[in-house]
Amino acid sequence: MEGALTARDRVGIQDFVLLDETTDAAFLSNLKKRFSKDLIYTYIGTLLVSVNPYKELDIYNKKQMDLYMGVNFFELPPHIYALADNAYQTMLTEFNNHFILISGESGAGKTEASKKILQYYAVSCPSTTLLNTVRDKMLMSNPVLEAFGNAKTLKNDNSSRFGKYMDIEFDSQGDAVGGHILNYLLEKSRVVHQNHGERNFHIFYQLVEGGEDNLLHQLGLERDSQHYNYLTQGECAIVSSINDRNDWKTVKNALQIINIDHLFGIIASVLHLGNVQFDSDSKGHALLNNNLLGVDARSLQESLTFRKIEARQDQVLSPFTIDHAIYARDALAKAIYGQTFTWLVSRINESMENKDPSRKTVIGLLDIYGFEVFYVNSFEQFCINYCNEKLQQLFIQLTLKAEQEEYEAEDIEWEPVQFFNNKIICDLVEEKHRGIISILDEECLRPGDATDLTFLERLEDKMGNHPHFVTHKLADKMTRKTLERGDFRLLHYAGEVTYCVVGFLDKNNDLLYRNIKDVATQFKSSLLKLTEILMAKEAWYIRCLKSNESKQPGQFDEALIRHQVKYLGLMEHLRVRRAGFAYRRKYEVFLKRYKPLCPATWPHWNGVPADGVEVLVQHLGYFPNEYKMGRTKIFIRHPRTLYATEDAYEK
Ligand code: ATP
Ligand code: MG
Repeated sequence: MEGALTARDRVGIQDFVLLDETTDAAFLSNLKKRFSKDLIYTYIGTLLVSVNPYKELDIYNKKQMDLYMGVNFFELPPHIYALADNAYQTMLTEFNNHFILISGESGAGKTEASKKILQYYAVSCPSTTLLNTVRDKMLMSNPVLEAFGNAKTLKNDNSSRFGKYMDIEFDSQGDAVGGHILNYLLEKSRVVHQNHGERNFHIFYQLVEGGEDNLLHQLGLERDSQHYNYLTQGECAIVSSINDRNDWKTVKNALQIINIDHLFGIIASVLHLGNVQFDSDSKGHALLNNNLLGVDARSLQESLTFRKIEARQDQVLSPFTIDHAIYARDALAKAIYGQTFTWLVSRINESMENKDPSRKTVIGLLDIYGFEVFYVNSFEQFCINYCNEKLQQLFIQLTLKAEQEEYEAEDIEWEPVQFFNNKIICDLVEEKHRGIISILDEECLRPGDATDLTFLERLEDKMGNHPHFVTHKLADKMTRKTLERGDFRLLHYAGEVTYCVVGFLDKNNDLLYRNIKDVATQFKSSLLKLTEILMAKEAWYIRCLKSNESKQPGQFDEALIRHQVKYLGLMEHLRVRRAGFAYRRKYEVFLKRYKPLCPATWPHWNGVPADGVEVLVQHLGYFPNEYKMGRTKIFIRHPRTLYATEDAYEK
């Protein structure tokens, strides 16, 4: 019977645009069929859908890279290399800038995807220099930034806790000549606090587990993560999927390639700081009860147990309680780590700098923390989810815009398709004077008695009956039960998230402090800048789907995937692609592929490609309403039409 099965029956359809019907069920069934054959990639036109297989697949080797290099997008089975290569070839021929937006929830495979793309460019692109050090440095930046910026969370053992946008710069020959990274909001609070089942940033465990004896001795560190308060709160220092000792070697080697050392003293100091304890004297004032290596004990005692108050010309030292002292200690640890991270990124950037920036084009890779929902969600989740909301908005704008422009450029009429537009949620968060961030900023800057709860009250006053905002006070009887008094709930595009306001003012103050002059929250303005950077480039999309919550290979959790397909807007995207004309191909490409099907075009067509295509499709019996000839491309209305042509070709 096997022989009677068509390729479509066996491995599903490689491009959703060719599906018989655009129902959720058909979409899911195709995805599932392919996943069961380890075919994790499927296209929707040029958009790549990727399902996390949670196992190593033998599809990322040099042979595969060579296969995809320079080959037309639709000629080989869907692959991340095909997308990377298509962006690259377009950049070279059109000499313009591109970016690849990789999205999906935490654990869906964004970081892995971005690494595969970087490897593809590093290995496959031509090299004019024998020893391309910039490339090495670009590749090496990954393990370093992951060590310092990733951590085990409940969702992902290697979760990115910062956002990363990396430009890869190419010269006109297509050689990678430089790189530049922009980083977004590192989750610093993790340095001092981890939830149960989560870890601190990888680097701490790598150092303690893998650091050489003499290094640990020099830094005064024990080879035991259990010894450190900052490493034990999550009670999961050892994780089976993570080999801290091996990773240590990789990271150390990578740091050497980017010429960075002397960093471990700082990492060690954070661990020591976390072990600083306080006693209280008879008046309840905090006293430092242990010494820190290499630090003047008196100045540390002063800075951790007293607040300096400027009074006219004098400085007055006001003593802290134990709680205040612990707070000051943690704030210091977070600040040290945050600044180290920023410094690290700038050093990596220096090392990858393009020495001759005169003629270059770039491909930007965006790998940002995915949408996440935990049992308790705080300011960090609020920022992360807002960021995902913005990227979804960008996707909506660009896909609609791009589609409209394409039809316009090619003189083709089309009917717009309705999208759920998440702009309403973006506005709720970021609108000037009225959005949640503005209200938070105002509350942070308000002198007097502002607290997290007064912030919540202001939100309740201002948000009224906003359809995407709920609090205990505003909730109806149905939802109230599950909402605590200090919570507010946002109905994000990807689902409901309940945020606990505790710590919002404090954490936002930390951001405001860095950027007090323009008040606008730094995170909001940096996202705005990012959007501008991206809007100026040609976009490619990878939508990553998480196959199951338990990180198991081969498990296809239909409900989970259906939910992601829905909120990522994949069905709408598909409908837009099919609304006017499901398929379009450049005349040259179409003719090259199908010319064997017509005696007049085989083996050569001697006229212009558009005429050849016209002759070809008439020979194939296309009805006039089935296709349109644009300026440079043929547009085919129904997938079936091309389907039949494909089948004829396969025979
Ligand atoms: P976060 O938003 O938390 O950073 P993410 O989307 O970046 O999540 P990744 O870290 O890329 O998720 O992927 C999580 C894990 O899934 C990886 O550590 C790896 O084990 C597995 N994985 C992802 N993509 C692939 C792939 N293409 N092949 C094999 N395993 C994969
Ligand atoms: Mg990641």
